[in-house]
Amino acid sequence: MSLRDPRDVVAHKRDGKAVPPEDLAAFVQGYARGEIPDYVAAAFLMAVCIRGLEPEETLALTRAMVDSGRTLPLSGISRPTVDKHSTGGVADGVTLAFAPLAASVGLAVAKLSGRGLGHTGGTLDKLESIPGLRTDLSPEAFERQVDEVGCAVAAQTEDIVPADGALYALRDATATVPSVPLIAASVMSKKLAVGSDLVLLDVKAGSGAFMKTVADAEQLARTCTALAADWGRACRAAVTDMSQPLGEAIGNALDVAEAVSLLSGEYRGRLRDLAVMFAGEALSRLTDVGMGEGRGAAAAALDSGRALEAFRRMVEAQGGDPKVVDDPWAVLPGAPVRQALLAEQGAFLAAVDAEALGRASGELGAGRKRKGDPIDPAVGIVFRPKVGDRLEKEEEIGTVHARDDEAAATCAARVLAALTLSEGPVEAPPLVQGWYGH
Ligand code: URA
Repeated sequence: MSLRDPRDVVAHKRDGKAVPPEDLAAFVQGYARGEIPDYVAAAFLMAVCIRGLEPEETLALTRAMVDSGRTLPLSGISRPTVDKHSTGGVADGVTLAFAPLAASVGLAVAKLSGRGLGHTGGTLDKLESIPGLRTDLSPEAFERQVDEVGCAVAAQTEDIVPADGALYALRDATATVPSVPLIAASVMSKKLAVGSDLVLLDVKAGSGAFMKTVADAEQLARTCTALAADWGRACRAAVTDMSQPLGEAIGNALDVAEAVSLLSGEYRGRLRDLAVMFAGEALSRLTDVGMGEGRGAAAAALDSGRALEAFRRMVEAQGGDPKVVDDPWAVLPGAPVRQALLAEQGAFLAAVDAEALGRASGELGAGRKRKGDPIDPAVGIVFRPKVGDRLEKEEEIGTVHARDDEAAATCAARVLAALTLSEGPVEAPPLVQGWYGH
């Protein structure tokens, strides 16, 4: 059977039927070429969110997305190559740190990233808050930079996975993000279009993730690693905690400043722990060092400044102002209003609605309301405490960075309303729930 009219593809999925692979491919590629209007594609995405996709459909969707552009085999890169991708979280700047960190320990990272999606931040938006920095690299420039510098972080382009670029922006604007097959196809199309030796996935679970439960995150991890297996590619996925912001910075320039602090060995905390864990995993899988030794090498690269130097070279190669590594706030755009966040009572922090914090930051201007909207790189939230911490009444627990006083006050109220406090002590959730894949 052939569903020639794109509306028949939508109707098929709406009615819960499997769409034949060739029709799915024609639909996706037609949309990427601009032949199918946004409203038809949005209806299809919503039907997928509600009805799901069969494994063969998810594979066909992923393949169609990869086939919408060129692939980059990375055959000219002499170092072992690793890619790392997060399924999306709040204060999740691991990628910003991982790419230069891995480069500084002898690996190469060729990473296609995304923009902010729903309530989550995007690595491209964060990086572009560095004045001059470009993420629209041609495939040749991208590969050359990986060879010369050891890492590059770039956007999907008209050449590489254009279908993901188009669908990603539409999903962001149409509340069609939280779907296992759509996330898996989006993430894995970007990973499979680039021929890295190893793909590492950080699959987030919790209030700040698209997958709110560990069970759903495990399903996403299994779906992604199964797609990699179909391609014959090595892929490991960790399900990690997103029941609270991972780092402290929820914004764009704020995240870059936090990444600089991490890369210079100053910042300690869960963000560093994950960056070190993924670098250790990559080293132990791609070289002859063991996991413990690999993690030790990654921690030493952070503490010695070598990872920061790799970040400087990456920023410079992509046209950004390298002074960002020496004095971030001399270069990054700052917000005119800073309002302290004060704890309302003395108590233990029991839970954080991390999605609400991501949305509050988005309302300040750090995220998009409509497809193609500009974002404000300067605004956002710094939120310091972690679940289990004791807060004292009136203690400063963070800062809102806003354009005006009214926006700052509204945001501060939202952040405080997103916290659950407890009289008694609370245990911190484990950072890593488990590993999947081969
Ligand atoms: N990251 C992606 O690249 N795509 C998604 O859909 C979610 C996170």
